[in-house]
Amino acid sequence: MALNLYNTLSGRVEEFQPLKNNEVRMYACGPTVYDYGHIGNFRTFVAIDILHRHLQQSGYQVRHVMNITDVDDKIIRNSARDGVSVQEYTAKYEKAFLEDAAALNIERPILVRATEHILEMAEFVAELERKGFAYRTDDGSYYFRIANFPGYGKLSKKDFAGMQDGARVDVDDYEKDSARDFALWKAPKPGEAFWESSIGPGRPGWHIECSVMSMAELGETFDLHAGGEDLIFPHHENEIAQSEAKTGKPFAHFWFHARFLLVEGEKMSKSLGNFYTLRDLVLMGHKPSSIRFLLAAAPYRHQLNFTFDGLQQAAASVTRLRNFRLRLTSSQFAEGTNPDVSELAAETLKRLQAGLDDDLNTAQAQGAIFDMIRSVNALIDAGQVLRDDVPALLATLERFDRIFSVLSDDDLPKMRSIAEWAKAEGREQEISEALALAVAANQLSDAEVENKIAEMGAARRARNFAASDALRAQLATAGVVIENTKDGIRWRRK
Ligand code: AMP
Ligand code: ZN
Repeated sequence: MALNLYNTLSGRVEEFQPLKNNEVRMYACGPTVYDYGHIGNFRTFVAIDILHRHLQQSGYQVRHVMNITDVDDKIIRNSARDGVSVQEYTAKYEKAFLEDAAALNIERPILVRATEHILEMAEFVAELERKGFAYRTDDGSYYFRIANFPGYGKLSKKDFAGMQDGARVDVDDYEKDSARDFALWKAPKPGEAFWESSIGPGRPGWHIECSVMSMAELGETFDLHAGGEDLIFPHHENEIAQSEAKTGKPFAHFWFHARFLLVEGEKMSKSLGNFYTLRDLVLMGHKPSSIRFLLAAAPYRHQLNFTFDGLQQAAASVTRLRNFRLRLTSSQFAEGTNPDVSELAAETLKRLQAGLDDDLNTAQAQGAIFDMIRSVNALIDAGQVLRDDVPALLATLERFDRIFSVLSDDDLPKMRSIAEWAKAEGREQEISEALALAVAANQLSDAEVENKIAEMGAARRARNFAASDALRAQLATAGVVIENTKDGIRWRRK
């Protein structure tokens, strides 16, 4: 079965086919690195990561490029305010973004930085001017002439007929609703950072950055372009106009947009006090794996309402997945096979795949795996899961995790490093008791605990009780409580 994916450009779900062979060339608009990434940003990046992973699992070669916007109005303003260079100002936030993305197990795309492509951007603007799509103003800035590009509005489905020719806006971080000529290149104002270029001194507009970098990395026409829904207009509309005006060819084939995240039912905003960076949540003691699980729980085109209740439930779901795997790997099963179990594993795999192929229905994929866990737990209780059934169950679980990536616990080192960052930034008081406890008391990660439990089981089976007792003592010191239940070994933290 093929992936059916919603395409904002056509306004419907279409069967996804790469333009060239087996290769998928995709571009995602990355962060503007002027602050720490918030959970809304990461909802979009996790959605894009799931798309990337699913394409890979479907057998495609994925070339996934993401830009880092390291020059824009806010960056220029903030770096001038702080008296540091643009580079110095952005380096810190870029580093933080990459650490946060890694904490969420987002597979690293090929990264491109706007500041490394400035001269190509100037060349691109010059070419647009030669072709009659751009004009220069007295101050040395350049604008795109929307009236000369008849396709303008085809992505956002806005009607620009009758629009005034030559009406323009100056500031691209405030232009969200304007339908006027947009800046391609901005002449420097006194005291502002700028670059010398073939079209004079200045800096690129935000939209031109993505046209230039995507085409430099992926060619004039490529498969997929992604971002959050707020980018449809004007950013992506403008990217299409610039790119297609220059090349005369279609730009991206598919346009993928993730819906905005709400927090406790409201738009996230600093003034409402419901604005959270990823780091805020970790400082409160929440695990990156719970956050990733929650961000992936609603399909990307659905509204995801982030709540702290939901985050608790996500943490419980992750624990449930991990305990299930532990039960499979550490219990003793009688010899043999039960065809019902292999069928259940195969059925689950199918539902998982079908859910993801259905416009990345992550909720269905998660539902499928938890249905399997429920059924298999009941079968194990009834002694109906046999030794040769286990590999197929584990394989299904692994297949699920190649998309959702929450099974192997590397949470603790990530939480520890965010605690260290808070100390280094002089924000020690923001480290919650929960995080401090997690870092101090639990010196072992979940994976380390599970290894020790497995070793304990092996020692016991070899009747080496001294070794098994020593391991149990080590776990107790690390704050891990072990329970032998009828379902096998369970563990929790004190
Ligand atoms: P920015 O750093 O503001 O350019 O945003 C980076 C990415 O995060 C873009 O793809 C945005 O569309 C996306 N984004 C920003 N806010 C939210 C939100 N509340 N929910 C989902 N995605 C968002
Ligand atoms: Zn972009």
